Amino acid sequence: MPELPEVETTCRGLKPHVVNRQIAAVRIRERRLRWPVPRQLGRMIRGTHIRNIDRRAKYLLLRTDVGTLILHLGMSGSLRVVAADYPAGKYDHFELVFTDGNCLRLRDPRRFGCVLWTTNDPARHPLLSTLGPEPLSNALSGEYLYARSQGRRISVKSFIMNSAIVAGIGNIYANEALFAAGIHPQRQAGRISQQRYTCLADSIKHTLQNAIQAGGTTLRDFSREDGNPGYFQQQLRVYGREGASCPCCQAPIRRLMVAQRSSYFCHRCQR
Ligand SMILES: [Zn+2]
Repeated sequence: MPELPEVETTCRGLKPHVVNRQIAAVRIRERRLRWPVPRQLGRMIRGTHIRNIDRRAKYLLLRTDVGTLILHLGMSGSLRVVAADYPAGKYDHFELVFTDGNCLRLRDPRRFGCVLWTTNDPARHPLLSTLGPEPLSNALSGEYLYARSQGRRISVKSFIMNSAIVAGIGNIYANEALFAAGIHPQRQAGRISQQRYTCLADSIKHTLQNAIQAGGTTLRDFSREDGNPGYFQQQLRVYGREGASCPCCQAPIRRLMVAQRSSYFCHRCQR
């Protein structure tokens, strides 16, 4: 599943290929994504320009002259820019055709992604308005996490994966950040000191930044049909490594379920 670093890398990779392009047409081959693609989209945005592309949590925001397209890649979605006449595949459900002869094409085999439209401030869209701060912004700090955790009996892992607390932290990076901070995933959120939350906030930022950097270097060309759309393999230290040795102390990595998600941790390094 594309996590925040992949979405950020996608955003950066697409930017030079889509910003200031004029939309000549909208092609919808399959409307039934997670939510239906608006039927009238073509009529509304044909002839307008994409002025910017940015990211909020795992949503991509394509800002046109008249409103904003909100895209989510779901479980299996990917975006690329290709020649508009390049034959579409079975899972190429949606595309924006530009006047320069290229198109931005969404491929989504499992159809958990979405393409939505708003003419209002997208920050006020129901999907975005309840999101907590961006993990890479200064708003995420130890002080903030500590304040929000008071009185909470849920596990710290569920706490940081709650998008109302911090936006866009998926299972992989929650595991990695907790390992880096030396915090056990099942520890009660309300029973962690501000000092440890400061360490956790730093770990979240470092973990995500490293992944974004790795994505930027291993990349993939967003403007080639045969380029790797893919989600880069990260250097993961605990995630998916049950039974392997901890990179810090050599104890075997353990796995347990926390809130129905696999949690990988070192029982010696994480308390
Ligand atoms: Zn260890």
